[in-house]
Amino acid sequence: MSFAAKLIPLSLRPIYEKVLEGERITDSDAELLYASNDLNALGSIANILRERKNGNVATYIHNQYINYSNVCILACQFCAFGARKRDAHAFELSIDEVVEKVRAGLTTGITEVHMVGGLHPTLPGDWYLELLTKLRALDPALFLKAFTAVEIRHLAERVFRKPIRDTLVMLREAGLGAITGGGAEIFDPAVRDKICRGKESAEEWLEVHRIWHELGMRSTATMLFGHIENHAQRVDHLRRLRGLQDETNGFTGFIPFAFEPEGARPELKHIPYATAHEALKNLAVSRIYLDNFDHITAYWVSLGLPLAAVALNYGVDDLHGTIREEKIFHMAGATTPQAQTISAMEKAIREAGREPMQRDTWYRRISSTAVVAQPPELALKS
Ligand code: SF4
Repeated sequence: MSFAAKLIPLSLRPIYEKVLEGERITDSDAELLYASNDLNALGSIANILRERKNGNVATYIHNQYINYSNVCILACQFCAFGARKRDAHAFELSIDEVVEKVRAGLTTGITEVHMVGGLHPTLPGDWYLELLTKLRALDPALFLKAFTAVEIRHLAERVFRKPIRDTLVMLREAGLGAITGGGAEIFDPAVRDKICRGKESAEEWLEVHRIWHELGMRSTATMLFGHIENHAQRVDHLRRLRGLQDETNGFTGFIPFAFEPEGARPELKHIPYATAHEALKNLAVSRIYLDNFDHITAYWVSLGLPLAAVALNYGVDDLHGTIREEKIFHMAGATTPQAQTISAMEKAIREAGREPMQRDTWYRRISSTAVVAQPPELALKS
């Protein structure tokens, strides 16, 4: 038996062997992993997959977040970002204001804009199309990643009044390059009813991503953990993501976020913030379970950069982006910085013993503007 295997407790050794052999773990394996508090064993197993897929490289993207408006017709219980028009913290940027922010970002070399907002009750369809067109015109090489699945449904059903597929095609023609993974939360319907009543169901979230992938496009997937969900509900969430990835191969990466209780509604405010231990465990189990995902991201906005860097040895191979201006988690009470510099990201990665590499939206490794390594297999399943 190898030295590494001796460090794995007996109860987890069958899972370790499966991962070594490239075999997929089951839902009950994942629950066993979640039940373990042997973080080093979980990290060791997760790193087998992490290193098989990505070697010693850890990536980040130089990107810019934009929230065009937080005005929203829903009122998810966990959300401190959404507002009614009359609320003091409501905001709406004009198209010109968004363009100016992005123009400023481009002077720093950003390669991606990541843009989401609330479900705005009155902005017309032309506003969204003009926004994308003007951003595209700023720099055709700039990648426009925008809108969560629930925003896409809102645009399709209430704004454009068209099928989701037609709406996505129209947005793509205006410049949309990828949709974001937000809004997945936890797929279990009973949990959704308590944290985001009225939001789209799991099936509806997955349908938007399925259609986007069928159009030959890619997206990311997320999970909001550390609130009222249990481990079985997390496994159910991961199972549905793994299932869609088996169908389409359209997800580029998986990004779990820890719930921020401070800005939540009173019924959720008492929940303690997920511990560092739980956050690392969740990342490691996700890495092991999602064997068909190439990349697992530690979201420094919610973890803090030091813990996100530690996660690079617990299955994670990506630290997300420089961001420039994060609002959603900070309105909810996050105390991390609102942005990171490239040098801070690279320093954190080096300190974790990994090799830093800037990436583009597809996780292709880049140096300045040149693609230096081929992407993972981008072929989508038909
Ligand atoms: S999470 Fe999104 S959909 Fe829900 S209230 Fe907040 S902005 Fe609106």
